[in-house]
Amino acid sequence: MSASTNRLANHVALITGASSGIGLAVAEAMASEGASLVVNYRSQEQPAKELVERVLKAGGHAVAIQADVSQEEDVVRLFDETIRTFGRVDVVVSNAGIQKDAAIAEMTLKDWNTVIEVNLTGQFLCAREAVRRYRTQSRKDAPARSAGCIITMSSVHEIIPWAGHINYASAKGGVRMFTQSLAQEVAADGIRVNAIAPGAIKTPINREAWETEEALTKLLRLIPYGRIGEPEDVARAAVWLASDEADYVTGTTLFVDGGMSLYPEFRDNG
Ligand code: NAD
Repeated sequence: MSASTNRLANHVALITGASSGIGLAVAEAMASEGASLVVNYRSQEQPAKELVERVLKAGGHAVAIQADVSQEEDVVRLFDETIRTFGRVDVVVSNAGIQKDAAIAEMTLKDWNTVIEVNLTGQFLCAREAVRRYRTQSRKDAPARSAGCIITMSSVHEIIPWAGHINYASAKGGVRMFTQSLAQEVAADGIRVNAIAPGAIKTPINREAWETEEALTKLLRLIPYGRIGEPEDVARAAVWLASDEADYVTGTTLFVDGGMSLYPEFRDNG
């Protein structure tokens, strides 16, 4: 991680699904830039608590809050507890996501619904609470030029079709239009809404795609830049998007994918 420049000083940043992978890295990066952290987790309490301890030890501010982003009452409580703890919220990184892969003929309705509920409805519930809170907070006390910022964690599969993962790709395609429509709706309130679309990032969600040499070689054929992404690659993008450096950026998707979305098969075909 590069040296802190305190770009998120006095910001309160809420990151969902922050007990592992990309969410954990985003939370660490935002804390190192001066943000007070709300570390949301669903079931992995231990790593969330350890992250909070690391931040407190370093002189920062952080709290871990359990909530399932697909449950309305959980999300409302998550924001209530955030305001009770820190008095405001300035950045929401709606990162929580899951995969439940199957070919369509084998996909259960439950696996379809669960992925849509976490990956898409979860975005709606978190963004709705964020907008409600941002609208009631005083602009005078805001640490940023904007009235608040929302970052949705999308995927290259918001544009790249993905056989065998139609629940996931449908949810991420929905996140793309959700992000743009919401950005259009709340820009006049001074609220910025952007998506990050990671490519292949080394985390538990896609372990089988990188844990063997054979799988990694196959994966690298899809990545023109020639390496798998690290959670920190996404974290640096999230810090920038959340900071005033990106104040004129809203309604866009920032692809952090080593070129995965550039149709790499066309390098030597077509
Ligand atoms: P991960 O499995 O390490 O992280 C997902 C996190 O979300 C976990 O901490 C999990 O506990 C949490 N979570 C799951 N369901 C939840 C719920 N209902 N409520 C609250 N939290 C919940 O995987 P990751 O790769 O870090 O994924 C983070 C996000 O990035 C996801 O939205 C994923 O779709 C997206 N993404 C990842 C990749 C990649 O290559 N790793 C690529 C594109 C997009």
